[in-house]
Amino acid sequence: MRQSKLFTKTRKEIPADEVSKNAELLIRGGFIHKEMAGVYSYLPLGLRVLNKIISIIREGMNGVGGQEVLMSSFQPKENWEKTGRWEAMDDLYKVSDSSGREVALGPTHEEIVVPILKNYISSYKDFPVAIYQIQNKFRMELRAKSGILRGREFIMKDMYSFHNSQEDFEEFYGKMKDVYKTIFQRVGIGHLTYMTFASGGTFSKYSHEFQTITSVGEDTIYVDETNAIAVNKEVFNDEVLGQLNLIKEKLVEQKSIEVGNIFDLKTKYSAPFDLSYTDEKGEKHPVLMGCYGIGLGRLMGTVVEVLSDDKGIIWPEAIAPFFVHLLVLGEDKEVLEEAEKVYESLEKAGVEVLFDDRREVSAGEKFADADLLGMPYRAVVSARSIKENGIELKKRTEEKGKIVTESELLKMLIRESFL
Ligand code: ATP
Ligand code: MG
Repeated sequence: MRQSKLFTKTRKEIPADEVSKNAELLIRGGFIHKEMAGVYSYLPLGLRVLNKIISIIREGMNGVGGQEVLMSSFQPKENWEKTGRWEAMDDLYKVSDSSGREVALGPTHEEIVVPILKNYISSYKDFPVAIYQIQNKFRMELRAKSGILRGREFIMKDMYSFHNSQEDFEEFYGKMKDVYKTIFQRVGIGHLTYMTFASGGTFSKYSHEFQTITSVGEDTIYVDETNAIAVNKEVFNDEVLGQLNLIKEKLVEQKSIEVGNIFDLKTKYSAPFDLSYTDEKGEKHPVLMGCYGIGLGRLMGTVVEVLSDDKGIIWPEAIAPFFVHLLVLGEDKEVLEEAEKVYESLEKAGVEVLFDDRREVSAGEKFADADLLGMPYRAVVSARSIKENGIELKKRTEEKGKIVTESELLKMLIRESFL
């Protein structure tokens, strides 16, 4: 894509009430636009990142047999009354229309998915089933000061699994732990993300959160480096440590962000809707459930928080909006022609390239934008690089680039971008 055609521009100013690093860098880079506290629109560069995250997550969910759906955001009040959450959930948005009818704006989808499944599963032969979606959620969050880490409208992947035995549930739950680890690894924050034991509420002993370490995190966890697991401060006591076989002295306290979680729901939501099945003997039982969430905006914001420097974002290759940022400097005809040629060759080879072909923009500005936008590679065509018979190539993480010939550049970028 040509940067001269990109309708967004980088900005120096950010909204005065924005205090988080992820919002600052993403707004300055034109990835997102702030509408109000906790509400953001995704612009072309931001949407490219989001879509890559979605592809990685979708692959993971499909891999465990998940079936993708898209459920409604408007949710019947009766369903929420049935589970008791119309009154109990503090952050539920209740909207009413001109006739006075009230509905919930979906903060989560147990109240929708269970009644749907009731129409389709009734026999022990129907299990297991896993259903997921990628969809906007609405929550009246009290504090929405962390950019896209905590939105009042935000995008979530939510999966719900249905089982006719605890063993079947546990087998699936075990697979989800592995899938989640793979997802965070692929997105580029695996080295900072720990599976964390947290309280499971009234129904099961523990739930598992996936917590990414960063000083701006709202959560506190205790990390066991050797076993690559952690315990949330909320469940941290001697009894828990004993159950998990963890030694207090070996644990390190860290601040962290919860990027995802998985829950054993048992019959918490199947019971109120009487979602049940008949077994081989014709006996009726309530269905067992699990749920599995990942906040996509929160994940993207977390990447920005943990992988950036004082100049801007450093996107991991798997989710970068473009693989390479090609810059042309100066107005020389020879330079412009060479840059055009490189751009066309990269495009033709299918390498995702953002071409800074803007005229009358200084070299300094172009370099600063490349650092802010954070593509994994930067290639610069200038009078100087041409004098040295080549193009300057630099990784975003490197201080200095090196001159390579045009054919070396193409070969290298094509190979690397398809790894
Ligand atoms: P938190 O404790 O941070 O409020 P939660 O326990 O309410 O999270 P869930 O309801 O389990 O979160 O949602 C699943 C996932 O959705 C979370 O792990 C998180 O990644 C993401 N998420 C939750 N709330 C928000 C929000 N307000 N903005 C962005 N992402 C969110
Ligand atoms: Mg919450």
